[in-house]
Amino acid sequence: MSTTTHAIAAAAPGGPLAPATIERRDLRPGDVLIDVAYVGICHSDIHQVNQEWGTAIFPMVPGHEIAGVVAAVGADVTKYQVGDRVGVGCMVDSCGECEYCLAGTEQFCVKGAVLTYNAVGYDGEPTYGGYSRQIVVKDAFVCRIPEGIGLDVAAPLLCAGITTYSPLRQWGTGPGKKVAVVGLGGLGHLAVKLAVAMGAEVTVLSQSLKKQEDGLRLGAKSYFATGDPSTFDLLEHRFDLILNTVSSDLPIDSYLSLLRVGGAMVNVGAPPNPQSYNVFSLIAGNNVLAGSSIGGIAETQELLDFCAQHGLGAEIEKISADQINPAYERVANSDVRYRFVIDASTIGA
Ligand code: NAP
Ligand code: ZN
Repeated sequence: MSTTTHAIAAAAPGGPLAPATIERRDLRPGDVLIDVAYVGICHSDIHQVNQEWGTAIFPMVPGHEIAGVVAAVGADVTKYQVGDRVGVGCMVDSCGECEYCLAGTEQFCVKGAVLTYNAVGYDGEPTYGGYSRQIVVKDAFVCRIPEGIGLDVAAPLLCAGITTYSPLRQWGTGPGKKVAVVGLGGLGHLAVKLAVAMGAEVTVLSQSLKKQEDGLRLGAKSYFATGDPSTFDLLEHRFDLILNTVSSDLPIDSYLSLLRVGGAMVNVGAPPNPQSYNVFSLIAGNNVLAGSSIGGIAETQELLDFCAQHGLGAEIEKISADQINPAYERVANSDVRYRFVIDASTIGA
């Protein structure tokens, strides 16, 4: 048994994205049915539609930055009620029993966390993401969106927000710390806002100075163009933390040279190609080159509460469903300011 809902899907690798209908399962006792209000376009959607990360499942309904309102709940759900404002991010299930699930880091589940789309659930059914009118999700993977944050500017927090919040926290962002954010896109602009709210001194490292005014308005203290080679001389040994949000290849050694002794460069950007670096770039300053994967559900709730407290949300360009394909082009060209958010009421309308 299931219910048909309108969605936007890629029928085959490379797209285009086009209207489709999909089935959502009937509510199990622990499920929540969500009327999607807004869904962000993450660069990960584009990587996956284009199969840049390896073989993907088609048809694909992308979307893991979902904000909406609870429309119905299963018999055992006590945490949510009809009408609650909620969000869903990159995961919709995990085993709940392994050491990582118990530690609140479901993304590392030993059985394998079930991703919101381009995955197969434990029931053997493919998962379809948030570019749709409705979604059914297990209550443990639903977060509450606090009053005070609009659902439209909250949607990107469910992936871009948590993916930057988690490493910023892990690597000690706070007063007295100098943080560089590489790439001012969806993740990058939220990284700037969050690191500033945490009290750090933030620098944006962008390909050009085109978005400088915005970067400074978001709270960055300084802004440099990485296309200008003198930037790397000027900023040598400057930063405690470099958060790399770039979706394509980067000269890692040049960035490592910007770290203070003991500083870390953390990669959240997920370019399809292998990246390389010279080990001496790390040895020279006891430096760390790390990665970071989204964040757990409890930490995502913590992030949403942090954003409500600090009056933070994403900077968005709201679009209708028929504008998704040109929006993908603009994201691929680093021309988004700073997250496209789809008005889900236009899907199938
Ligand atoms: P985005 O909005 O496209 O932002 C990426 C930014 O990187 C661009 O705005 C651009 O900023 C910069 N950039 C792009 N191409 C570049 C190049 N060739 N050289 C230097 N800089 C370049 O993408 P996003 O949605 O923020 O996602 C960023 C990456 O994070 C993607 O690879 C995505 O898949 C990944 N991601 C990872 C996780 C995780 O768990 N680790 C979670 C979500 C997303 P400037 O114009 O300012 O230079
Ligand atoms: Zn994402």
